[in-house]
Amino acid sequence: MLRIAIQKSGRLFEDSVALLHDAGISFGSNPGRLLRAQADNFPLEIIFLRDDDIPEYVEEGVVDAGIIGENVVLEKQKNVRTVERLGFGKCRLSLAMPKSTAYDGVQSLQNLRIATTYGRVLAAFLEKNNIRADIHEISGAVEIAPSLGLADAIFDIVSTGSTLLANGLREVETVLESEALLVANLALETPKQEILARLLFRLHANRNAKNHRYILMNAPNDRLHEIARIIPGMKSPTVLPLAVEGWSSLHSVVPEAVFWDVLEQLKAAGAEGILVVPIERMIV
Ligand code: ATP
Ligand code: ZN
Repeated sequence: MLRIAIQKSGRLFEDSVALLHDAGISFGSNPGRLLRAQADNFPLEIIFLRDDDIPEYVEEGVVDAGIIGENVVLEKQKNVRTVERLGFGKCRLSLAMPKSTAYDGVQSLQNLRIATTYGRVLAAFLEKNNIRADIHEISGAVEIAPSLGLADAIFDIVSTGSTLLANGLREVETVLESEALLVANLALETPKQEILARLLFRLHANRNAKNHRYILMNAPNDRLHEIARIIPGMKSPTVLPLAVEGWSSLHSVVPEAVFWDVLEQLKAAGAEGILVVPIERMIV
């Protein structure tokens, strides 16, 4: 049995639940109200916690793994292993100042009072840049600190910047680009490591599937060679003869990133009846 912690409610909750569900793990339809749940079809127990507590619980082995923002992992400075970057919960930690204040590079931060809930991440950034500033750690509502006269600048999570704007602030420096991480305890016993590996296998299969398309097309046999060279497939494409003499059907898998380019080239090279279909799972 592997015990995994996810955020009980908040910005990571839904994506965390979806990640596990997409990995074929079912644990009831309304997990948000529970504190713990047992998967019916996988050796996994899910514990619902405040995100801030997850790094410590993982370090101590109270839970074996957790899904948590990188910003929180860095701030808490607990000894955990990052197993996987999960690609959701994206945000950035930035410095912001009142719009009226001049900013020309990090030197402008010298001797300022900076309000934040991320004191350690900020301290590390300031130290790296040889800036001495007065870090004012508060537990929330950081954006209003400058207008209250409590601070000259803030260091906080920014997603769209609209909260900053509403408080008369502008972003002056991005310090960290964060996303959700799957982290694990450093000393997992072998059986738990095996379960974690099974979970990862499923996450990878889903991610690969999302990043690829299955592509089918018809082509005259004399163009097959050229067309096959265009397709950046997993291996070489599958070629099947059509009932019509002199024509074949080609099948392959194409990475999402290059997919439109490939499509144009295929058409230009004489492919017809091109079909593109999503892939449900993909094991490479
Ligand atoms: P909890 O009650 O669990 O302590 P919280 O209020 O600390 O929740 P949330 O606002 O739910 O935290 O954010 C959780 C995580 O989601 C953040 O630590 C960050 O990694 C990520 N995140 C992504 N986008 C945003 C955003 N726009 N604002 C805040 N956090 C974001
Ligand atoms: Zn929190």
